[in-house]
Amino acid sequence: MITKQKGTNDIYGDEAKIRLYVNDILAAICEKYNFTYIETPVFEASELFHRGVGETTDMVQKETYDFKDRGDRDITLRPEGTAGVVRWFIENKLYGNLTDPVKVYYNMKMYRYERPQSGRMREFTQWGYECFGTDDVLADAEVISLAYNAYRLLGLDNVTIKLNSLGDTESRVAYRNALIDYFKPHIDELCEDCKQRLEKNPLRILDCKVDADNELMKNAPKTLDYLNEESKTRFEKLKDLLDMMDINYEVDTKLVRGLDYYNHTVFEVVLNNSYALGGGGRYNGLVETLGGPSVPGVGFAMGYDRTILAMKEEGVNVPINNSIDLYMLYISDSEKETAAYLAQDLRLQGFIVETDLMQKSLKAQFKSVDRFNAKYLIVLNDEELKENKITLKDTVTKEEHQMNINDLGDYLYMNAK
Ligand code: AMP
Repeated sequence: MITKQKGTNDIYGDEAKIRLYVNDILAAICEKYNFTYIETPVFEASELFHRGVGETTDMVQKETYDFKDRGDRDITLRPEGTAGVVRWFIENKLYGNLTDPVKVYYNMKMYRYERPQSGRMREFTQWGYECFGTDDVLADAEVISLAYNAYRLLGLDNVTIKLNSLGDTESRVAYRNALIDYFKPHIDELCEDCKQRLEKNPLRILDCKVDADNELMKNAPKTLDYLNEESKTRFEKLKDLLDMMDINYEVDTKLVRGLDYYNHTVFEVVLNNSYALGGGGRYNGLVETLGGPSVPGVGFAMGYDRTILAMKEEGVNVPINNSIDLYMLYISDSEKETAAYLAQDLRLQGFIVETDLMQKSLKAQFKSVDRFNAKYLIVLNDEELKENKITLKDTVTKEEHQMNINDLGDYLYMNAK
């Protein structure tokens, strides 16, 4: 038997229904913030992610699905959404004449070669969005507020935004140097990866899962102490805006985020102060790194699968429809034809209608009525049909109503919903 690959999932049944519900909510809130929908390809030139995400990141060094295609090209399955969207932004020269920001959202599968566990898959979904073309702090606040409101609309009221600022380039460099000075004398106490990170990307040490409990981490320099005046003022302004928007946030000076491209604002959404359901921030250098002009950007990505897990854990009540409006039973060929045209008619009027597709006995068709949890049934009957009549039965109250076949739609409209 061929089985599914490690870290992948088939999505079906109630799980699939929950996802359709979540998709609708996320799309609707994005539209309110005037973000438009985008899809980018699953595979891109490897260089895009190597440059965009950063050569020194765990994601690029250990987690990407890289392969050569039959034309000997280096290809990578996208591990995250931002780099592909930035590639699209540059390729279509959307940076020219920017009078308004370019705001897009996506809902896409991502691929990372990780050790699978609950909430950590090799194929997973991220819902995310990017806003290009403005450095205004209100754009950061809007991006955070969209994330915050999306989780709340999904019924996750206990989310907190963890917020930090890495500052501008000058502040980041000062902080980087402070980290190197701090960790260098203790290099032997760090894990092998962190030894490498010390020179290449010391911020990443703070993100290390292996060294997370090391005492050294607690006293490490804090980003906020290295912000220059401009960056400090910007961060204060952001907090004021979030306060005004009534957004529940906490400053977390240890938050640096795993990717190379962030500056100024970084944030994560956590539930009940435990695991991260998503994260984002500002990436003013990324468009330039990927070959475009210097255009600022800010964005967010939700761990979609983890968010759904969290909804289940929190007991969020998702309205899932597991019933149909009407099941039509029949025996003769002419009754079957009536079933066919009535089903067509009623479905176009918006009702969920099912009829027998397997030449079952009447008894077996009644079992289908129960399995589909039909609100009404009709046993089509040639005698009645001659007079243009049908008898509709309410499966719960067992009440029956004989009516003209042309009145069925109106009756269901008034009673079935
Ligand atoms: P990142 O792109 O690493 O910042 O991740 C953003 C969010 O995506 C995280 O907060 C997780 O909720 C989710 N995520 C990251 N990696 C995985 C994975 N392997 N499986 C499921 N969700 C993930």
